[in-house]
Amino acid sequence: MTERPNILLIFADQLAWRALPAHGDTFAQTPNIDRIAQRAVRFGEAYTPCPLCQPARAAYGTGRYPHETGVLSNGRKHHVPNVPEALPTAGELFANAGYTTIHFGKRHDAGSLRGFTLAELGQLPVDEAPAWPLNADTFYDRHTTEKAVEWLQRYDGDAPYLAVADLNNPHNICGWVGANAGPHQDVPVEGPLPRLPDNFEDLDLGRRPRPVQYICCSHNRLSQAAAWTPENYQHYLRAYYHYLARVDAEIGCILDALEQRADAANTLTVFTADHGDGIAAHRMVTKQVSFIEETTHVPLMVAGPPGLVSEGRDVTALVSLLDLVPTLCDVAGVVPPSVMRGRSLRPWLEGNPADEDGAYVASEWHTEWGFTISPGRMLRTERYKYTRYLEHDGEELYDLANDRGETRTLVGDPAHAEALAAHRALLEAHVEATEDPFFNLQWMAEDRWRSHAVGYENHEGPAAPMVG
Ligand code: ZN
Repeated sequence: MTERPNILLIFADQLAWRALPAHGDTFAQTPNIDRIAQRAVRFGEAYTPCPLCQPARAAYGTGRYPHETGVLSNGRKHHVPNVPEALPTAGELFANAGYTTIHFGKRHDAGSLRGFTLAELGQLPVDEAPAWPLNADTFYDRHTTEKAVEWLQRYDGDAPYLAVADLNNPHNICGWVGANAGPHQDVPVEGPLPRLPDNFEDLDLGRRPRPVQYICCSHNRLSQAAAWTPENYQHYLRAYYHYLARVDAEIGCILDALEQRADAANTLTVFTADHGDGIAAHRMVTKQVSFIEETTHVPLMVAGPPGLVSEGRDVTALVSLLDLVPTLCDVAGVVPPSVMRGRSLRPWLEGNPADEDGAYVASEWHTEWGFTISPGRMLRTERYKYTRYLEHDGEELYDLANDRGETRTLVGDPAHAEALAAHRALLEAHVEATEDPFFNLQWMAEDRWRSHAVGYENHEGPAAPMVG
């Protein structure tokens, strides 16, 4: 085997796959992510194991589902344990294999960064425009980039490295929602506003599972957006693209530093995100409860040494962020522990796709802070997406081949009854195979969080986490 490659893993936080020009967006300005995309294998059908920061991070850091790591929420009223010591982490595997393992930036990992040297965290000032207020997300990113660049300029160890730049943006959009809560006048911005997505109005909300119908009651951010006009949502999108451009600029600095290194040609560069953002689909802001494409489908692109990643191209195989660590292990000659759920994507990097018959990916939801509990599961198969929630046995089935915007659930449609039955059976098999306690979990939502007429715009007042 040739010299083991260095690996640079760049994470964004809350980046919907379809907000990127590499996946068809025409408004975003992301020249630096595009730099990676141009020479990367672009996995166009990649999913997060949970559309929420901490459970997602704990899951892909260990290659195990949230129900296996025990990290089901972001905390507060819901206890979050550290990932079990018995689950090997990416940092441990690579450190034990002789790699230098260094992590910069956002953690929120519940112990899944064990084995990494954690670079000092800090914040640096950034000038802001009135329409796009900044918070710690952006200030941390500036510092994270500076530290990562310094390290890339300085590191001259004999050992290959696994370096992670964990950036927050476009997550600053969450703070933007808070700053624009309720009815408001938008701060004027120069230039055109993005148009609203085709699936902005959710005409099928009345047929969706109850936790999805009432996200506004369980999620501070959607409750803050309940009174927004369509134009307010356009400003939300404009702000989202602004925070995306900010993280893109940070990524540019990191890529510049990488490219100055003598060993740049022997470095695998991976770009992905922990989960997506509603980006106004179904009137959704940020992320919570539902498994819509915008929040659960993430970018994943891998650019690398010639011979390992021969050329930039699009891949349509269904993949999961749980595949990330097994893939990195494979390209680095590290034996991945058999307990990891994911599979190595190396065959796709090399242009020799593996057999995809029967492939599916799964995602999970439990709770954000513990004020409502809505256990849910999602399966994505080649053509369909199936979801199941325990509350009132809610289900959805979407034909993604013909309805990528998930505008019409096919539950109850005789033409898709067979597909529905097959996906119910697949979920039961998945639950059994992964020792998932899903069907024995309990949902919890007081009547007051399920009381108004269906429609996020009908929500008034606080959401459950605001009143405890
Ligand atoms: Zn509500």
